[in-house]
Formats: sequence, structure tokens, C-alpha cells
Amino acid sequence: MLYSIPSNYIRQWCYCPRIVYYMEFTSFRPEYPIWVKQGYLYHENEARLWNRRNLSRFGLETGKIRLNYSLSSKKYGIHGVSDMIIESNNKVFPVEFKLDKSLKKKGGILQLVSYGIMAGEIFSKECSEGFFLEGKKSLYKICFSDDNKKEVLRILKDIRIMINNGVKPDSSASINKCTNCEYINHCNDR
Ligand code: SF4
Repeated sequence: MLYSIPSNYIRQWCYCPRIVYYMEFTSFRPEYPIWVKQGYLYHENEARLWNRRNLSRFGLETGKIRLNYSLSSKKYGIHGVSDMIIESNNKVFPVEFKLDKSLKKKGGILQLVSYGIMAGEIFSKECSEGFFLEGKKSLYKICFSDDNKKEVLRILKDIRIMINNGVKPDSSASINKCTNCEYINHCNDR
């Protein structure tokens, strides 16, 4: 059986593979800044409001909403919790509530794709798109291509190889990324 990888490792891996190494092999847990706490509150608030909203913004007349939905796949060896899963008659859609625009970068998109891969398998329904919601007005539809599904699987494979070998990966992270990284004190070449 495949060792199950948390889906947030995909986003971290895209930011810098070393972060996944630190998360997996050290007990250091960074103190997150205030905006991360604000993000949790935002999530809670959005989840509460979505119990009352309709789905017209997603172009759907009906659908079942599941909030903070736990997903996993034995086939792909991955697990995670999606902010919201919408199930229509013949499709499923993962939705992430985002406060930080940077989460729409490649890593955040591939994490969303990973939710789509798991949701499609669990519900046995097509999952070809997902959404980022920012506040009341901004809704971003992300179409899942075969290429980005393949990229998610490739990243999972690379993470698994790194974990099996237990070797700290090289990093090409920019100075800007390192300056904003909670693990900078562990990187003695930075
Ligand atoms: S400090 Fe830079 S190299 Fe080290 S983990 Fe963070 S982003 Fe990666």
C-alpha cells in the first residue's frame, strides 16, 4: 500500500521542496503570522455562510454542499480536507476559500487539482474543474487539464522518493521566497 501524502505537501513542494523535508523529518513547527489566523477565521465564516447561499454563482441550479470534507485515495496515496465539495447530478467540484491571492499560484492550483482527483474517485463522478472563492465577489474557475493532473501525480512520486531517501533536497528558491519562509533558520546555506 502507498504511504499516504497530505495534499498540502503539493503546494509546499511547489514553493520549495525543502519545506516538505522539514515538515516530514523535523519536529519544528513554525509560528504562523497573524494573517494565517485571519485566514482560519475567514474559512469558518465562509463555511457558515455557504450553508445559506445558493449555487447560482457556480452555474448550478442544484447540488449538494459538503463543507470541510475529508478526502483520500488509496489508489494515489494522498489525503486532505477540501473547504467545500459540491456534488451535482453528474459532476463534483472542489472549492477553496482563499484570502491570500498568492494561493492561486501554481502550488495552490495543483492542490485544488489533487482534491479534484480524490473527489472524482470517491464520488465516481467527473471532476474537470474547481473553484477559488475570494470574498463575496471573486470566483475563479480552474479547469483541470490532463497535464496538471499528471503534474500532481509526478509531484507525489517525487515527494515519495524524497521521503524514502530521507535526503534534504536542493532548492532553487529565490531570495524573496526564502525571506518569507518560516524555515529559513534551518537552511544554513541561505
Ligand atoms: S529558506 Fe528558502 S531554501 Fe530554505 S526551505 Fe525556505 S524557501 Fe526553501
